[in-house]
Amino acid sequence: MLEIVPLPAFRDNYIWTLRGGKNAAVVDPGEAGPVKEYLAREGLALVAILATHHHPDHVGGISELVAMKKVPVFGPKGEPIPELTHPVGQGDKVEILALAATFSVLDIPGHTRAHVAYYGLESLFCGDTLFACGCGRVFEGTAEQMLDSLTKLAALPDATRVYCGHEYTLANIKFARAVDPGNSMLAAREEKVAKLRAAGLPSLPSTLGEERATNPFLRCAEPVVVESANKYLGARVADPARVFAAIREWKNRF
Ligand SMILES: [Zn+2]
Repeated sequence: MLEIVPLPAFRDNYIWTLRGGKNAAVVDPGEAGPVKEYLAREGLALVAILATHHHPDHVGGISELVAMKKVPVFGPKGEPIPELTHPVGQGDKVEILALAATFSVLDIPGHTRAHVAYYGLESLFCGDTLFACGCGRVFEGTAEQMLDSLTKLAALPDATRVYCGHEYTLANIKFARAVDPGNSMLAAREEKVAKLRAAGLPSLPSTLGEERATNPFLRCAEPVVVESANKYLGARVADPARVFAAIREWKNRF
């Protein structure tokens, strides 16, 4: 049975560690220190590294980890990550034999040009594209691309556990409540997450069912979200990509 453990890194990043028996793989090791410490403490051998995109807070620890042990490094083929041994893209499979785990690769551009997600074992590792109750900034792609990527992730089953790259949930919920004020599930979510954070616990993983019900960036066709976007813009738009672009811009200033 595979266990998935968050290793906090920097101020609000998570390095997701997949462990089974005496083996472990890590997703997005932005720094090597927390990984090395955890592996040593738990007596685990590193067997693979997965990267979702090229930002340093997700890949900065890879060179130090592969210097310690040569393991396969999976990551998006369209991005500059020099340590990759297995460049991957849409439709590829990532097989980690030592963990008996297989993941499908999904291309989800927008935050970066070739950002990927890994999906398997009812779990989704989606880096900085889908966040709990939010989404990443659009740095290298277009609003249309980002919305397409989020829509692709939203089509996965409700029970899918969402493991994203940052602990931004509480701030995201505060913004979501401004966009979607009447959503009672959102109010309940805020209460639940505030309790977890007050106890020093991660708010993650969430589930895709929860995201579809409360994440405004997955709800760009909902009348209440459209109306809020229109109020922000002071204009009438209905096209989901324009609604998405409006609330993404609003969030940047929130
Ligand atoms: Zn990023």
